[in-house]
Amino acid sequence: MRVKVWGCRGSVPCPGLNTVKYGGNTSCYEVLTGDGRHFVLDGGTGIWPLGRALAALGTGQRITVLFNHTHWDHIAGFAFFEPLFVAGNRIDAYGPFNLVDQGKSFERTMQVQWDRQFYPHRFTGIAALLEYHEMREGVTDFGGVTVRSHFMNHSIQALGYRVSVGGKSLFYTGDTEPYRNPWADGEAGSGAKASPAAETTSSGLWDDDDHFGEQAGAIIEMRNNQIVELCRDVDLLICDAQYTAEEYRTKVGWGHTSIPDAVDMGVKAGARRIGLSHHEPLHDDARLDALEAWARDYARGKGFTGEVFMTREGQEVTL
Ligand SMILES: [Zn+2]
Ligand SMILES: [Zn+2]
Repeated sequence: MRVKVWGCRGSVPCPGLNTVKYGGNTSCYEVLTGDGRHFVLDGGTGIWPLGRALAALGTGQRITVLFNHTHWDHIAGFAFFEPLFVAGNRIDAYGPFNLVDQGKSFERTMQVQWDRQFYPHRFTGIAALLEYHEMREGVTDFGGVTVRSHFMNHSIQALGYRVSVGGKSLFYTGDTEPYRNPWADGEAGSGAKASPAAETTSSGLWDDDDHFGEQAGAIIEMRNNQIVELCRDVDLLICDAQYTAEEYRTKVGWGHTSIPDAVDMGVKAGARRIGLSHHEPLHDDARLDALEAWARDYARGKGFTGEVFMTREGQEVTL
């Protein structure tokens, strides 16, 4: 299995002279399984250059796109994905089932992109066979490529995917934040390590009933551990690591993970490689270089012997 990074920026594209090394395109990763099929994780602006490369292969392409969720930075390139405009291609788009507002299906949310208010032509020009599929938690077999989907912790339903083929596997978190007790006064950034003792002080809500507080802590820990187990022994963990620990203190509840929490997750799971991703747009190349060095030191300090790196556009990783 090979993975190619086409976009690894979070929130908003940020092309420019200071982001040339890591790139300015938003989330898109290609998974090459070696049998001619194309699996894609997310359709941020990075899917536009990927689409150009796939369109050059001609008609008859079979492409599966697994969307983490439908925030702009994960879908913004899809309306301009060139294989959609080639007759004879088949594109299957998978995304999370909407638990909260069931009137807004995945298909409806995606199709809005071609409304005239957002798209430059009244006809979409889609010539390929395009099918939408709503996913929940579970295991889907794509003929030898197994995908396990799991709801992550974000402001809307977002699916993390474990993709396994030929004895190799990766886990893609997409956007996620460690579960934590939002009413506790615990130290921000400790989400991945939430414990009842540390998290049940001084909010008042929990003081009256220690047992309830303990239960809440246990549930939080269970949800975080479930995700760690889904990543168990993966060859590559591509993890949301948008913020530094300091930045995260003012971004608790925004749905993203700090760099140390992302490394902790990979270390706990026994991942062989940890690819830190969904880079904060304010972090230019020099900052990301420095943060990568910091993350490697931090991981070594935890006894981690695998690779830790900041994902960058154009990078290919062979598993
Ligand atoms: Zn995002
Ligand atoms: Zn998001």
